[in-house]
Amino acid sequence: GGVPLSKVSKLAADHGLGGLTFAIGIPGSLGGAVLMNAGAYGGEMSDVIKEVTFLDENLNFQTAAATDLSYSYRHSYFMDHPGCVIVEAIMELRPQAPCEIKAEMADFTKRRKEKQPLEYPSAGSTFKRPPGHYTGPLIRQAGLAGLVMGGAQVSKKHTGFVINREEATARDVLRLIKTIQNKVRSQHGVLLEPEVRIIGEDMDKRRGS
Ligand SMILES: Cc1cc2nc3c(=O)[nH]c(=O)nc-3n(C[C@H](O)[C@H](O)[C@H](O)COP(=O)(O)OP(=O)(O)OC[C@H]3O[C@@H](n4cnc5c(N)ncnc54)[C@H](O)[C@@H]3O)c2cc1C
Repeated sequence: GGVPLSKVSKLAADHGLGGLTFAIGIPGSLGGAVLMNAGAYGGEMSDVIKEVTFLDENLNFQTAAATDLSYSYRHSYFMDHPGCVIVEAIMELRPQAPCEIKAEMADFTKRRKEKQPLEYPSAGSTFKRPPGHYTGPLIRQAGLAGLVMGGAQVSKKHTGFVINREEATARDVLRLIKTIQNKVRSQHGVLLEPEVRIIGEDMDKRRGS
């Protein structure tokens, strides 16, 4: 569960196993990706996971088939059961020539560098893709590309990303997220749901700040 996802993806490639190519360039651990059903370029973790072993809320080891883990777009059973710790996942991959897999990986990496603001810190895509729409164009058409709040900014390169341009605080990022949601809702009638997980906001409200 703790191994970097990109390392698993490269290991699979070295062994001539395809199906995990999409994971190259997704930062984080295998456990985090299993939890949020991470995905990119038409693939997602639930396409390849067969079963997951985890420590449940009562500290018992459990193994569950992927079909019992409520997988859907950027969602799994584990998101509704935050006390669980994912320790292991079995994946089913398919034979594919390593040179073919590596060419696909190089293409995905190139596309990421061209389209995503990787030169700035960010939490990746700020919002989930709303059904029937693409997040970036909705935000761009609402005139929000480049909008700055404190140290946070709506990336001009990819409007679906909020970047930390210069010492942004969590409050800057949250204000920007709210502004984007309000503007996109009033302009397009679409609610953008955060893909990033927001921690500690309630505590902030209780303090009255
Ligand atoms: C530049 C950039 C690009 C990105 N591109 C993509 C993309 O293309 N597609 C995509 O899907 N995502 C993308 N992301 C998001 C990224 O995939 C997630 O941040 C990552 O998968 C989370 O894994 P993590 O190990 O970093 O988890 P953390 O951020 O450490 O934790 C996230 C949540 O998972 C839980 N968690 C982590 N490990 C475990 C475990 N072993 N057991 C139980 N719970 C656990 C944590 O408790 C927490 O609630 C991108 C992020 C960045 C910054």
